[in-house]
Amino acid sequence: MAEYQDKTIKCVDCGAEFVFTKGEQEFYAEKGFTNEPKRCKACRDKKKQEKKAAQEPVQF
Ligand SMILES: [Zn+2]
Repeated sequence: MAEYQDKTIKCVDCGAEFVFTKGEQEFYAEKGFTNEPKRCKACRDKKKQEKKAAQEPVQF
């Protein structure tokens, strides 16, 4: 069984370092995600917002 440890990752977007926690790693593994997050939470939230906005119907 894998042993998880908190891991510091540098955000590809803003360059800030963030912690990929043990709990998050377990969550990722549970979901079957094999890749680690590349962005900090702030940037991920931002991306999510952008995606959400893009999915909303556009009126012409
Ligand atoms: Zn970031």
